[in-house]
Amino acid sequence: MEKKIVIIGAGIAGLSAGCYARMNGYEAELYEAHSSPGGLCTSWKKGEFTIDGCLHWLTGSGEADPFYQLWKELGAVQNRRMYDHEEFYRIADADGKTFIMYCDADKLERHMKELSPDDKEPIEFLCNLIRKFAGFKAPIDKALELLSFAENIKLLWNTKQYMRDLYFFCRISIEEFAQRFKDPFLREVFPMVIDMKEMSLFGLVLTMSQLHNKAGGFPIGGSLEFSKAIETRLLNLGGKINYGKRVEKILVKDNKACGIRLENGEDIAADYVISGADLHHTVYNMLDGKYVEPKHEKLFQTGLLYHSMVQISFGVNMDLSHEPDCVTEVFKMESPITIGNQQTEWFTMSNYSFDPTLAPEGKTVLACAFATDDFEYWESLYADKAAYKAEKERILRITIAELEKKYPGFADKIEVSDVLSPMTYKRYANNYKGSYMSWIMTPELMKNSRIFKKTLPKLDNFWLTGMWLMPPGGVPAGARTSRDVMQFICKQDKKKFVTTE
Ligand SMILES: Cc1cc2nc3c(=O)[nH]c(=O)nc-3n(C[C@H](O)[C@H](O)[C@H](O)COP(=O)(O)OP(=O)(O)OC[C@H]3O[C@@H](n4cnc5c(N)ncnc54)[C@H](O)[C@@H]3O)c2cc1C
Repeated sequence: MEKKIVIIGAGIAGLSAGCYARMNGYEAELYEAHSSPGGLCTSWKKGEFTIDGCLHWLTGSGEADPFYQLWKELGAVQNRRMYDHEEFYRIADADGKTFIMYCDADKLERHMKELSPDDKEPIEFLCNLIRKFAGFKAPIDKALELLSFAENIKLLWNTKQYMRDLYFFCRISIEEFAQRFKDPFLREVFPMVIDMKEMSLFGLVLTMSQLHNKAGGFPIGGSLEFSKAIETRLLNLGGKINYGKRVEKILVKDNKACGIRLENGEDIAADYVISGADLHHTVYNMLDGKYVEPKHEKLFQTGLLYHSMVQISFGVNMDLSHEPDCVTEVFKMESPITIGNQQTEWFTMSNYSFDPTLAPEGKTVLACAFATDDFEYWESLYADKAAYKAEKERILRITIAELEKKYPGFADKIEVSDVLSPMTYKRYANNYKGSYMSWIMTPELMKNSRIFKKTLPKLDNFWLTGMWLMPPGGVPAGARTSRDVMQFICKQDKKKFVTTE
């Protein structure tokens, strides 16, 4: 008889865990609080428009990246058109001076040298790194924790040409690297690329290498369609998903996980339990803080949490397809604005004209974002529903005013709009402080804990998966950690881990 694995959450991690469980002959039953798959990897309909709430770039959208193989196993990329942007970030100051982080490293090099000929050295250094790491194949087939001594040596040998560079760029943050530019404009705007200036340069170089390789595109159809493809794969493999079922507790007997208790009081028995839900919530609520991994606890106390944000989206009766083809556009406003209790002078937006499935012809979906790390402010504001609503309306008004300056007539052409706050992320996916990634991989964190534990001390038959276990997160983290976890389970049961496509 097949052993039964109960999986909490049907985000990318939960869905992937279910797929790999089925591929390896386990019964897989998912319990998801919401009514649809994907967790944070989602989009939603508003009138004639589809607002996307997640993917800007998908690691492994193309065959050049090893993650492509995982997405194939999960049925997510077959027959899916991917869109590769020309530009990653386009950042303009108040005078219109513009830095473009081109996806193609050669173009990027030419552009940066035009902007700042005196910075030839760091520009060439950066672009050479991007080109070099375009050939780097991240070792993702086997869980790093399971590599034998000989496999570790082989890995070191195979990656020896990258070691010196890795040593350098894991130990310097994006912001620190930017200080190498003589040009003050580059020094100011370069750290804004990817919106994680404290992250080690490693993260940026790897992302740029994927974009250079055309392996970091956008799945046409949007994030929910991408998640639904994995849901379909799971159902075809014989997995079961129970929507609208919030898990309250993980049941434990003799320090072994043996099932879950739902919010409605129903108990579900299982041989093994995997949680793909928020790590903090899993450990401190579903398990009452009885089994705490000290490394996780330390990260919650001292790790730099990826911020949350306010997202303001529009469906507008305007054709903006002639605008620059970039993932994210940032411009400096004439004067700073206040979002929540934080001031910002930079305006960030994404134009989804490139995906014809998201809006009717001649119309556009536009999403603007303001990063916030003041979760406590939003949490207390949310307690007063009228004040919370008023703040969201105020932010909507000032966003429209900025867009009106950029696109005259914009305000009158808006057909739908919505505003998400850090509390939306908290309420929707239960995530710690509304974070939609996890910890930023600072040089300090890169040094200290490269492997994040997917088990809890003294608790058997239980595993953790999802973005918190592979910082800084993202959908590849969900797929990869679940694939790793199924390898641990197979090892425990003395089975050979297998995958199918
Ligand atoms: C605006 C935005 C942009 C992003 N851009 C990108 C990008 O470009 N590329 C990229 O790779 N990633 C991006 N991400 C990040 C990515 O979406 C997440 O890191 C990833 O989807 C996390 O997947 P997960 O399965 O680990 O967690 P989640 O998606 O959080 O899934 C957890 C699931 O568990 C469920 N759950 C929680 N508690 C319970 C409970 N008690 N009972 C039952 N179910 C429960 C939740 O409802 C949820 O469905 C972005 C996210 C956002 C919000």
